[in-house]
Amino acid sequence: MTIITTDTTPRVWPACLNCYNNGRLVGRWVDCTDAADVTLSQLHEGAGGLSASCEEIWCLDTENLPVDHEMGLLEAAEWGRVYAEVGPEHWPALCAWVRSGSYVAEGSGYLPSVGDFEERYCGRWDDFREYAEHWATETDMMDRWPDDAVRYFNWEAWTRDLAMDHTVVNAPAPDYGVFVFRDL
Ligand SMILES: [Zn+2]
Repeated sequence: MTIITTDTTPRVWPACLNCYNNGRLVGRWVDCTDAADVTLSQLHEGAGGLSASCEEIWCLDTENLPVDHEMGLLEAAEWGRVYAEVGPEHWPALCAWVRSGSYVAEGSGYLPSVGDFEERYCGRWDDFREYAEHWATETDMMDRWPDDAVRYFNWEAWTRDLAMDHTVVNAPAPDYGVFVFRDL
């Protein structure tokens, strides 16, 4: 049996911009949740070379974030806050929601609103049909239907209709399947 563990903790690689401009990589990986505490002297620990021109920290690389740009520590810390709010279990779904483009941002920025995420997220499913069947069962949709109506029910057409009120995004390894979001 192979156990695949996927680490999805969002991280940034803050570096000293002055050293970087002088051809030296002075930085380290930190979790976004710790980004607010990163200092210049911390980054230069062991790497040496902290000079008066070392002033600015810039995150030159990121991982497990739903955006692909370099950023400052402030933004990294904001992502850390969102991560702490949504929790590790739902973080991959939140990232997929942001990457889909049809997500709700908080305020006037582009960081995702966790409240809106939680209102819309319907879970991870093998495919949308599995979600649709689960939904039909949960809501007792067919409870009072005559047998024939149940037997001849057009699942395909109904699932297609239901999908129009949802956003469906492919889920990543190791589970795959889809993340389903209710459109409100
Ligand atoms: Zn430096």
